[in-house]
Amino acid sequence: MSSEKFGKLIIISGPSGVGKGTIIAELIKKNPHLQVSVSATTRAKRPSEVEGKDYCFLTDQEFDKKIKQNKFLEWCHVHHHHYGTLREPVEKQLAAGINVILEIDVQGAKKVMSYYDTQDDTHNDRQNKSDIPIVSIFIIPPTLETIRERLCKRKTENKDIIEKRLQRAEEELNEKDHYHYVVINDCLQAAVDEIQKIVL
Ligand code: ADP
Ligand code: 5GP
Repeated sequence: MSSEKFGKLIIISGPSGVGKGTIIAELIKKNPHLQVSVSATTRAKRPSEVEGKDYCFLTDQEFDKKIKQNKFLEWCHVHHHHYGTLREPVEKQLAAGINVILEIDVQGAKKVMSYYDTQDDTHNDRQNKSDIPIVSIFIIPPTLETIRERLCKRKTENKDIIEKRLQRAEEELNEKDHYHYVVINDCLQAAVDEIQKIVL
């Protein structure tokens, strides 16, 4: 089966506050044919977020049920909450030749990469998994201090949570070598242009 039939799976990771959401929003404005997978999460909705657009917000019980029903391509425990990529919409879009962006953390990215790398297709009758082209991009800040400034500016988390996200950022940055590309988000426009070149 030719890999041209399927859309690309574009994995974008990076520490909280590095600018993933901002970059992806710019990318979609310029390339409306790209689709962003809407993840499920058990964390509380931020005032600016829209259910079904930013996330599917689930209770712990609803999330657990979906885990048992094998509804997730991957799911992880991040920052004390569950986050997961819903399998069905992503598989449908890839099968239709649509390029899909997954904005997921480093653990989730590893799971997706190993899932699609495998040559064992016996458990998937709809797609030959190894035919899905994958591009993985890790976004880094100019400095760790930049992340603190951006999270403070975003005003969506309190000081304690910002400190926890910063600690985790240091660990996450060590994972960047697992990705095909590392892009620095200093000047927003330069980062968007670089990612656009990689993706297209
Ligand atoms: P993430 O999705 O990685 O958690 P966001 O996209 O929410 O991060 O960005 C965090 C904050 O940083 C937002 O307030 C955003 O406007 C700001 N930001 C993003 N990229 C830049 C940049 N290149 N320069 C300055 N501020 C930025
Ligand atoms: P936030 O709470 O700031 O929206 O996201 C926190 C972290 O969860 C970010 O690192 C983000 O990439 C990650 N994340 C969001 N959705 C998913 C998902 O579906 N799966 C995984 N593994 N991580 C996710």
